[in-house]
Amino acid sequence: MPDHRPTPAQLDAADPLAALRDEFELPDGIYLVGNSLGALPKAARDYVNTEFDRWSTLGVEGHFTGDLAWKDYHELVTGQFAALTGALPDEVVAMNSLTVNLHLLMVSFYQPTAARHKILIEGHAFPSDHFAVESQIRQRGFDPSDSLILLEPRSGEQTLRLEDTLAAIADHGDELALVFLPGVQYYTGQVLAMHEITTAGHAVGAIVGFDLAHAVGNLELSLHDWDVDFAAWCTYKYLNSGPGGVAGAFVHQRHVTDQRLPKLHGWWGTNKTSRFEMATDFDAIPTVESWQLSNAPVLLMASLRASLDIFDKAGGMGPLRRKTEQQIEFFDRRLKESLGDRVENITPKALAERGCQFALRVTNDDGRRVFEALENARVRCDWRHPDVIRVAAVPLYNSFDDIDRFVDILDGIVR
Ligand SMILES: *Cc1c(COP(=O)(O)O)cnc(C)c1O
Repeated sequence: MPDHRPTPAQLDAADPLAALRDEFELPDGIYLVGNSLGALPKAARDYVNTEFDRWSTLGVEGHFTGDLAWKDYHELVTGQFAALTGALPDEVVAMNSLTVNLHLLMVSFYQPTAARHKILIEGHAFPSDHFAVESQIRQRGFDPSDSLILLEPRSGEQTLRLEDTLAAIADHGDELALVFLPGVQYYTGQVLAMHEITTAGHAVGAIVGFDLAHAVGNLELSLHDWDVDFAAWCTYKYLNSGPGGVAGAFVHQRHVTDQRLPKLHGWWGTNKTSRFEMATDFDAIPTVESWQLSNAPVLLMASLRASLDIFDKAGGMGPLRRKTEQQIEFFDRRLKESLGDRVENITPKALAERGCQFALRVTNDDGRRVFEALENARVRCDWRHPDVIRVAAVPLYNSFDDIDRFVDILDGIVR
């Protein structure tokens, strides 16, 4: 029977976002590791150089001069962060790094009492998240062996079932202080049902926060409408801000002006109009900016802006997600045709539970050997202990042809 399905070249030709690839400098080979470090936007050099030029000519006056005044520089990305996360502008801010933001937010949102002190996380949480939560529990004088609940997939399964997550929330009920889960699980690529989990957490009186490291720039999010209490994310993965890039934080509107919340203060959280009068009465900015401690890392934000402007050109997450869904379908089909059951994808099958990352496990072969052979063939992907090869088709810059060539190379190695 003739195959009428479109070829990768036809899919790329029909892709309205295909031209965005030219906005990036991609390392040679096939770059499929934007889940770990996004590619360099070409314009980032200009955005950063602009700040070097302003520094060179304006010196300290750069803090106060023009539309790019450094004292307000973080505000330049607020609207774009709000659009990417489905938040109001008052709910999002660019600041610090991810793990730092998680700590700052848990200072506010983890308020254990003798009766309600437990935090629910996943057993396979990203180590930084696990450490952050564990240390927060100890800081408040509690013991992780009593207060930390680890959610695990059923035996023989790789991913979490929503019914089990909801049951765990209900079981711990009035002992549960905080539910803290990823939007996308970093290892399996599973997308968690953030809205349902938030509703279930609130139903038992718990606070619900998400780590969106692998979700922002990958999924369509509606943090405000889902009623999420808080969230944080890094920007060097799908937001392409570069190594060590500045992170983001979200606090729901109903909390941002709540002055009863405990909070660690710094001068960047106080009233902007009186900040430089150097008063020592903390007058909280009535937005999530009151969680800021320090003046903004302007050079990191400059490269982030270059990338966020490309998201605007793409028309936001809607068109990017539609391309991801097409790429998932194509990728699934090519893997099945070429590799059959020699490769298992442990990412769930349902589209609602997937972003652009695949978590591949090579059956009947040494996964580590296969990964090294991929590296030698200049396929950029990554290995996650114990046995997963992660590859992400990032809709901003990966083509259907990238996926097609990747599957051919993998087939050649595994054969
Ligand atoms: C990438 C990632 C981190 C990294 O934390 P940094 O503070 O940016 O170093 C933490 N948590 C998760 C879930 C991640 O995916």
